[in-house]
Amino acid sequence: MKLIQKNENQITFQAEVEESLANVIRRYVYQIPVLAVDEVEMIMNDSPLYDETLAHRIGLLPLVTGKSVNFNSKGELKLHSKKEGMVYSGELTGDVKLVYDNMPLTILDEGQELKLVATIKAGRGSEHSKFVAGLMFYRNIVEIKIDKDCPIEAAEVCSNHSLVLKDGKVVVANSDTCDICDACTEECKKKGKDSIKIIPTKDLMITIESFGPMNYEDIFNKSIDALKKDLAEISKVLK
Ligand code: SF4
Repeated sequence: MKLIQKNENQITFQAEVEESLANVIRRYVYQIPVLAVDEVEMIMNDSPLYDETLAHRIGLLPLVTGKSVNFNSKGELKLHSKKEGMVYSGELTGDVKLVYDNMPLTILDEGQELKLVATIKAGRGSEHSKFVAGLMFYRNIVEIKIDKDCPIEAAEVCSNHSLVLKDGKVVVANSDTCDICDACTEECKKKGKDSIKIIPTKDLMITIESFGPMNYEDIFNKSIDALKKDLAEISKVLK
């Protein structure tokens, strides 16, 4: 495994992994329990937003989803503001922390009031996008072979700069950036040539990106746990 890039919310690495395995883990990112607001009781809403619009906005706020969260986890957040100006997500207080405190919810004028109670539950990303903790995506790593007679236009159409011109010849600058778009091979075909071969290797470039409810490591591990659990259920049925 080779680490390509890492920051607080995202990791990209290269590894020899079967595409079918990477794909099933990717799909199971939408099967892990993630907290989100499920219902909002509006007690007072003087703001210019309709109750439904404000509730929808609150429903999409990312909530910190700890390691112990499961599909039975529940909670509550409350908000009461009479302050003139913007109302931010950080003003919601209760059982769960917001990932971002500075997300604008609505605005209040002088003398206006907003009071609500939000009910939280854990759900799956396959049910609703508010329960999605992040994304996993991948692409094949390729080997690029170029014949000496390769037309220079092949490098000019490579928008990923995987191919470049050097001393008037097409050369590989970085095969890791190639997304197998086939623009270069099509360009060669137009000239009646077959000068470029894009050969997939066994390696994948895998990226896991968190939207904030949990870190990318937990997204990956919980997806694998959910997959194992489902496989165990199937095994039980087959016995
Ligand atoms: S397939 Fe696309 S990205 Fe890859 S080298 Fe050719 S033009 Fe560039």
